[in-house]
Amino acid sequence: MLLTCHDVRKTFGANLVLDNLGLAVGEHEVVALIGASGSGKSTLLRCINLLTEIDDGTISLDDEDITDPRANPDLVRRKIGLVFQSYNLFPHRTVLDNITLAPVRVHGRSPADARDQATEWLDRVGLADKAKAYPDRLSGGQQQRVAIVRALVNEPRLLLLDEVTSALDPELVGEVLTMIRNLKSDGMTMLIATHEMGFARQVADRVAFLDRGRVLEEGPPAQVLGDPVEARTRQFLARII
Ligand code: ADP
Ligand code: MG
Repeated sequence: MLLTCHDVRKTFGANLVLDNLGLAVGEHEVVALIGASGSGKSTLLRCINLLTEIDDGTISLDDEDITDPRANPDLVRRKIGLVFQSYNLFPHRTVLDNITLAPVRVHGRSPADARDQATEWLDRVGLADKAKAYPDRLSGGQQQRVAIVRALVNEPRLLLLDEVTSALDPELVGEVLTMIRNLKSDGMTMLIATHEMGFARQVADRVAFLDRGRVLEEGPPAQVLGDPVEARTRQFLARII
């Protein structure tokens, strides 16, 4: 497995947010993470990206324990891209600078190399003409695609997407989903927290339903979304659809 979460536990004060959670993602696999608001989806993605420290358990990438205190967080984050709901682009930096800043400053990439790769990615996603533009000249969908490109220039092993279409106007959701579909065709391994059940059904190889910090049920989209075993999964789907 490319990613393995084993008995992951996380509390915030008295709030048990991840409760001995187990989840694995294979190479080239796309897993959709669904569940009610507050079920722990964002916390899990932040723990995998080492933005939040777990209390117990292990998270491994390529069989290496990244939650070991000796692991280098910058190196791990180079291998695991995380994109948030809000695109978080720097307003006073061009699109190209937004994409290359972290690879150059944090990950020690050569500026020319980072720029070449950023340009290539922008070209691939149809944003080549925006390289020198500032974020406020771009639509929300374009900004979110830039944020995804920013995660891709490090050639991550794994891409984590946290509700990346939730903040977008409905007419802009499609272009971001299309980009994610294309990434899947390219073989990118992804763990995607989403409320878009139609999208999860189309793009995911597997759906994991998170309930009170545990993966209560997982399986092929048609099964989990169409014919769930657990009553709580059924309740969740009945509410959301
Ligand atoms: P989801 O993404 O599924 O909506 P979250 O992971 O954001 O769920 O939140 C899970 C629980 O953890 C919620 O009860 C939330 O209030 C709590 N939580 C998340 N981040 C923090 C934090 N930094 N400090 C305290 N509580 C937090
Ligand atoms: Mg969330």
